[in-house]
Amino acid sequence: MIRIRMVALAATAALATGPSVAEEVPSFGFPFGFSVEKMDRSADPRKDFARYASGRWLDAARIPGDTVRISPLDQMSRRVDEQVRVILEEASRTSGSAPRGSPRQQVGDHFAAGLDVKRIEALGISPLAAEFARIDAIDGPKALAATLARLVLLLNDPVLAGVGVATDPSDRTRYTVFAIEPELTVPSNEVYLASAMAPVREGLLKYITDVLVLTGVAPDAAAVQAKKIVEIETRVAAKKLDPVDMADPAKLYSRMSYAQLEVLAPAIDWETYLTELGVAPPAELVVTNREALRERSRLVADLPLADAKAFLRWELLRRVIPYLPTAFIEANFAFSRVMYGHLDIPPREKLVAKEIASRLGQPLSQLYVEKHFDAETKQAAEDLVMRVRAQFRHRLEANKWLTPQTRRYAIEKLDKISIKVGYPDAWIDYSKVDIRRDDYLGNALRINEFRARRDLTRLGKPVVEDLFADPAATLPIVINAAYEPSRNGIEIPAAFLQPPMYDPQADAAVNYCALGAVIGHEITHGFDSQGRLYDAVGNVRDWWTPEDAQRFNAQAGKLVAQANSFQVLPGLHANGALAVGENLADVGGVSLAYAALVAHLRESPQLNATIDGLSQDQRCFIAWAQIWADKANEGWLRQVTAADPHPPGRYRARAPAQHEPGFYEAFGIRQGDPMWLDPKERAAIW
Ligand SMILES: [Zn+2]
Repeated sequence: MIRIRMVALAATAALATGPSVAEEVPSFGFPFGFSVEKMDRSADPRKDFARYASGRWLDAARIPGDTVRISPLDQMSRRVDEQVRVILEEASRTSGSAPRGSPRQQVGDHFAAGLDVKRIEALGISPLAAEFARIDAIDGPKALAATLARLVLLLNDPVLAGVGVATDPSDRTRYTVFAIEPELTVPSNEVYLASAMAPVREGLLKYITDVLVLTGVAPDAAAVQAKKIVEIETRVAAKKLDPVDMADPAKLYSRMSYAQLEVLAPAIDWETYLTELGVAPPAELVVTNREALRERSRLVADLPLADAKAFLRWELLRRVIPYLPTAFIEANFAFSRVMYGHLDIPPREKLVAKEIASRLGQPLSQLYVEKHFDAETKQAAEDLVMRVRAQFRHRLEANKWLTPQTRRYAIEKLDKISIKVGYPDAWIDYSKVDIRRDDYLGNALRINEFRARRDLTRLGKPVVEDLFADPAATLPIVINAAYEPSRNGIEIPAAFLQPPMYDPQADAAVNYCALGAVIGHEITHGFDSQGRLYDAVGNVRDWWTPEDAQRFNAQAGKLVAQANSFQVLPGLHANGALAVGENLADVGGVSLAYAALVAHLRESPQLNATIDGLSQDQRCFIAWAQIWADKANEGWLRQVTAADPHPPGRYRARAPAQHEPGFYEAFGIRQGDPMWLDPKERAAIW
């Protein structure tokens, strides 16, 4: 229920999951993995490195209609989606003979339920009738609190104001109660607050109005309600932390007593709320955003009951849109087009596959891993992990700018990072959840409730980690990887270990500077501007002397400046402060991977081969750049620049290499060349 902030490798553009036929995995005429064919060898690497590394691919690539970005990582995603589609169809055909509660039965029957469009259309919103009636019957604070509790169970997501259970940031050996800030319809605050976003706000109003009309509200009344709903969200958005502050654990941590919570947010009947959830009022709890919670309480006090009810109906509706008739999904995509630009609605099976990944992600991943992941690949990745980690350790041992005590602790933290490859040792057991072949929405709500109750009942018990469970970052079927600061752990999903990230046939440079660099990237997250604020077991604790912190920030500031000077689109600069953690991780990743490659080639000189006229050094930096080649819709670029810590691929392809001396040597880049970064502007951190 609580979404701990993970530090993923990449911003996700997977608005839609995979294609319905294999030919829809676009290759643009190139191999999926590293290839010199993708390069534009007529371009000068000293002038435009990204063009040199991927120019022919960039010329040929076209963004598929059902998404907003295409890159080699997205191509990987689409290939995995195709594998997943085959698994889903197989499971759907054979679920009748599978034991009840097994991954095959659950995944297969949920898929079949999602494809039963006739039934979904016939039911309309009738499956929500009881919940709407409950909202309509709210007559005061007690009923409101009981309804909020009911909704958080149904949706596994807090509505208006709510609590959840997760590990305590100051003592991660135990769980604690959090009062958390629910997400708004649009995660980016800018959409509500910035004048330039007025067209998106218009689109949001239209979206809400259209959906309300579909539920039977008269158009005039729907427009009035939509206006109210956007007003409420705007009031909350004004108190939300901005994306830069979200990376600061101190700003997300406010411990208080239960009595203080009742003073901070008096309009919520917390006792009723907690009783409904089966949670005893805790002696103390953590509030993630004090001001936002105070504002939400004021809202409850200020709002006429009718407006509060309209808002709650919307909160419920917007979270179940994918489970409703097609007209609702069309309204949702119409709004996505306003946000991101052109976007086709993908075929039904893609939409359903995406929902299964987010609700039954681990049971689906179990079927995937059985079929598509082998022990040799896991072993090879673990070997690379060891080699990259060893480079980091050498560097910490030789570090000149840290004081001895900070340096000693950094080594301890590095040694304690847990790095897991592929899939979890223990899967989350969904077997008790009733998944029916004719109840798509009901399945989703039952899964939500199972997850919500599972989290709530953990309070007071020993901490159990759910690894490989985040559908955006770590599920074994996603193309991503993540460092989790509150655990000091890294997860590298099974599906990620495919070309161009990892290819058993490729030469050393290619694997080191793709997968190896990602491993280095994730390890560096433990020591980036956010990760360094956590200790070796994942508690938020400052283990830096002030002078070490000052030196660190001076170096990190160079990466802020470098990104700020980069134009994503004409007139739109990258957000250096927001992206500094990712850029630090990229600089560390490339540099550590390159060092690990050099060490490996020293150990095995026969591998130091020139291939296609390119040295191993050159192939290393080209391999990195090829991963980040991308084409993206302008609207998507604007949204991620405003709100996502990951800079766009066109920046990542070359900016981190500019801090690595080996890059300049490999391509003969000299002062005065466009790719030259003055040594004073290069960050020397890890
Ligand atoms: Zn990252």
